Amino acid sequence: MRCDRAVDLSYRIKYLSTINREVRMIAIHDIVEKERISKEDLVHLLSIEDEEAVKTLFDIAYRIKGENVGRRVHLRGIIEMSNICVKNCFYCGIRKDNKSVERYTMEEADVLASAEWAYKNGYGSLVLQSGERTDETFVSYVEKLLKKIKKLSRGKLGITISLGEQRADTYRRWFEAGAHRYLLRIETSNKELYRKIHPSDHKFDSRVKALKDLRETGYQVGTGVMIGLPGQTMKDLADDIIFFKENDVDMIGMGPYIPHHQTPMGERIGDFDIHKKRNQLMLGLKMLAVTRIYLKDVNMASTTALEALSPEGRELGLLAGANVVMPNITEVSYKANYTLYDGKPHKNENMDEAISVLEEKIRGLGEDIGFNSWGDSPHFYSRIQG
Ligand code: SAH
Ligand code: SF4
Repeated sequence: MRCDRAVDLSYRIKYLSTINREVRMIAIHDIVEKERISKEDLVHLLSIEDEEAVKTLFDIAYRIKGENVGRRVHLRGIIEMSNICVKNCFYCGIRKDNKSVERYTMEEADVLASAEWAYKNGYGSLVLQSGERTDETFVSYVEKLLKKIKKLSRGKLGITISLGEQRADTYRRWFEAGAHRYLLRIETSNKELYRKIHPSDHKFDSRVKALKDLRETGYQVGTGVMIGLPGQTMKDLADDIIFFKENDVDMIGMGPYIPHHQTPMGERIGDFDIHKKRNQLMLGLKMLAVTRIYLKDVNMASTTALEALSPEGRELGLLAGANVVMPNITEVSYKANYTLYDGKPHKNENMDEAISVLEEKIRGLGEDIGFNSWGDSPHFYSRIQG
């Protein structure tokens, strides 16, 4: 008799949880169909934990991606041209005060060789990234590189730069030399959290102004955040997504925060175990999905930090709504010294093999690759058409 009652109770619990699950699924669909998704809705979507509901969220984001930017992946070969940085962000492995980093600036010939490789292999565009420097030697070196890359590709390679905060005249010089997209993450839209993860001379308001200056110079502007920072809440992440919309950005490059053991934040956080890695990965993927649902037509990268957390991270990002992949094409001898966070992949791989493996993986998802085209976001086109 007691046994029957126990069976009955467990049956009822199972039945109730099935109903709960159905209610949750209906809630996701209801939110997505809304004309105006509220901040509370974004928090609700980001907080979904149930495996099946998370899958539904990713499927919806994937459908919305197909409808708005197509099932086509754009490749940007990233060249990490220097790890010298004048800044001291508390989370970053190449911050100025990390004395164990061997500093480098790539030789011009090496940068151009990587650019040429990208061009010959049908990559539509490049990303030049580095630590932050504002001195004239660096500014004019970048200017010269941009002109030479344009020349070697007969104007065909698109160039994104991700070189930190600069003066407005520097943005203009680099734009005139051939760069047409700029990636500068806001890191977090929560001013207080921004203050906590940076030294006092790094100002949130200057970052916001930099994004505005870039837009006025004529760049397609990309920004992004680190996801899963210590002290960051779901409300903060929802605000980040709203920040992207309010600033009308064309591209998003965001990824999970991963500690680096030689940084003030990495030292504090202790072990980053399998459980924490999985949580960061899932949160990163949910953030991609919810951003796709909310912003629809922007370009959004499936970033290396996802790959650092799982060998399939990059593909999972594409399935959660991203449509850009940035394979690292930096000459291998430099890669290990550009370690922004622990576990950042810097495989000693044959580039020709790596690209065919990547192509195969992307095709395996049922997507194609936008070879030989810049792959600008539909958002950019609708923005310039007013
Ligand atoms: N110096 C430039 C570009 C290089 S850093 C800049 O700061 O814009 C590029 C990005 O790496 C940063 O925007 C930051 O979001 C990311 N990054 C740095 N440390 C990281 C960490 N520990 N985990 C995840 N992302 C990190
Ligand atoms: Fe320098 Fe960029 Fe790292 Fe900050 S995040 S320390 S600016 S490389």
